[in-house]
Amino acid sequence: MRPFSYERAKTPAEAAAAVARTPGAKFIAGGTNLLDLMKLQIETPTHLVDVQDLKLHQIEPTAEGGLRVGALVTNTRLAADERVRRDYGVLARAIVAGASGQLRNKATTAGNLLQRTRCPYFYDPAMPCNKRVPGSGCSAIGGYSRQLAVIGSREGDARTACIATHPGDMAVAMRVLDAKVETVRPNGSTRVLPIADFHRLPGNTPHVDTNLERGELITAVTLPAPLGGTQLYHKVRDRASYAFALVSVAAVVQRDGSGRVAVGGIAHKPWRVEAAERDMPRGAKAVAQRLLAGARPTRDNAFKLPLVERTLAAVMADARA
Ligand SMILES: Cc1cc2nc3c(=O)[nH]c(=O)nc-3n(C[C@H](O)[C@H](O)[C@H](O)COP(=O)(O)OP(=O)(O)OC[C@H]3O[C@@H](n4cnc5c(N)ncnc54)[C@H](O)[C@@H]3O)c2cc1C
Ligand code: SF4
Repeated sequence: MRPFSYERAKTPAEAAAAVARTPGAKFIAGGTNLLDLMKLQIETPTHLVDVQDLKLHQIEPTAEGGLRVGALVTNTRLAADERVRRDYGVLARAIVAGASGQLRNKATTAGNLLQRTRCPYFYDPAMPCNKRVPGSGCSAIGGYSRQLAVIGSREGDARTACIATHPGDMAVAMRVLDAKVETVRPNGSTRVLPIADFHRLPGNTPHVDTNLERGELITAVTLPAPLGGTQLYHKVRDRASYAFALVSVAAVVQRDGSGRVAVGGIAHKPWRVEAAERDMPRGAKAVAQRLLAGARPTRDNAFKLPLVERTLAAVMADARA
């Protein structure tokens, strides 16, 4: 690990300003992703701004009937919250499908949304990777790509190609719920980003995962008023636990068969196509066809296309049961 300096910020605005004014600075929350990346020298921050003293640990009702989840609420607490379990079952289920109990005790809401891809080449400094070193190439294209994206990725130009996926579970549930991300910028102003606009497709800048500005701090995530329906999260993975999704489906299904679905493990961001949801009463095949229109899988991960359809079918059958 490279040497770095360290401070504990006292207010969100102070934290944002500290990161913005110090070249190479980063926030640290639970540290469960950032420290791993620092040990491998994939992330080499020169200064860490610890946000744990910020008063962002509350889960509170909003005026709109939803919940405001502080950025530092741990994954364990969020999944166990009585209101979340009752009204946002898809979120509670997605969280407990991720990582391990110990990790969830440390991992925070904001940190989870900002965890980096698990593409194996991203973690191997000896290999070209446009996400890790812009312009160096993409080892996954033509390499091992079983875990990686089948849609929304950019492959045309070797200097910008990337077929990485967002690896998280929580973000997929947040996407189906249409959560909003609240932030404070280094100048003290605040803004709200719909989760749909939070994570990015790789485009020409695959090293940039989100639309946050430099030094912009997440302060909370808000959930809308409860949507009702049956809320499910199915995660398909190589091992029964402690593994990232090959494919996951977050769904809210109403009694008449209408609903919402978002898919994880197939794109650079949680993948939701609202137009495809109109086909939910017609069944999984119809939804999958529209959801995956334009997919360009590799030889290694073409299995994800039928797997999405089958996982959707399983979720819809469970919702009817
Ligand atoms: C072995 C292992 C298995 C895992 N399995 C899964 C899994 O199956 N599913 C899953 O979803 N996750 C999984 N995870 C990932 C884990 O959930 C994340 O590491 C964790 O959620 C990150 O949260 P953190 O608070 O520790 O973030 P940190 O590591 O502290 O930070 C992560 C990033 O977020 C930034 N950041 C933190 N807080 C803020 C903020 N408030 N505003 C702006 N930026 C901020 C940091 O600068 C850093 O870039 C796994 C992790 C490990 C190590
Ligand atoms: S898929 Fe993205 S993260 Fe993986 S090697 Fe290619 S550029 Fe790097």
